[in-house]
Amino acid sequence: MDRRIFESYAGLEGRQLLEPILRDFAGRTAVVSSFGAESAVLLHMVSEVNKAVPVIFLDTGKHFWETLSYRAKLIDRLGLTGVRIITPAEADLAGQDPDGTLHSRNADQCCHIRKTLPLAKALEGFDVTVSGRKRYHGAARATLDFLSIADGRLKVEPLAGFSALDINAYMKAHDLPAHPLTGLGYFSVGCEPCTEPGGSSSDPRAGRWAGATKTECGIHWTVNGEQVTLASRTSH
Ligand code: SF4
Repeated sequence: MDRRIFESYAGLEGRQLLEPILRDFAGRTAVVSSFGAESAVLLHMVSEVNKAVPVIFLDTGKHFWETLSYRAKLIDRLGLTGVRIITPAEADLAGQDPDGTLHSRNADQCCHIRKTLPLAKALEGFDVTVSGRKRYHGAARATLDFLSIADGRLKVEPLAGFSALDINAYMKAHDLPAHPLTGLGYFSVGCEPCTEPGGSSSDPRAGRWAGATKTECGIHWTVNGEQVTLASRTSH
């Protein structure tokens, strides 16, 4: 991936960034979505550009049923035809998490076999990934760039500059359904054993791995745990 190619996307965000990316890297781009609390915004933008774009959902086997139900609802509502449901390798589950409790003993390893490894496999053959992370979620995401490169792949974050207000306004403007758990006090929704109600517009991920130092599952970073910045903006 030649980083000079990204100069043409400087200053773009949201759908204005997504559209040329999906056009210029047609057939080489995958969207990664958790179908979580704010996922409808990016998925709606994707559906307006190309409903057939591959959308990867990591079915860890530990999701809330509400998330699986919401996934079905959004796919239907948005007319997405490229959703790929990815599951962990049976051998990894049998060998490392036969009773399904690895998350309570070693959350990093649980994320590794249930998320990181399956995603790496699912992304083989793709040169570009798009996800919906936002800077306002804080911690490692506070300095998120719209464009970066990691492990030889272009990573695009069209919503990096969106605030909680922007998300809500977009959901309202397009009449998008809310994740059922947001009405029960969940600001961010991940796997059931590792997500509690909680969070706020200033710390939306407070309910994720609550009480632990862990804040990320690791799927968004390079094999070295780093991101390499190519281009960024500082304002939305
Ligand atoms: S979020 Fe929790 S249950 Fe889900 S893969 Fe990570 S450690 Fe396992």
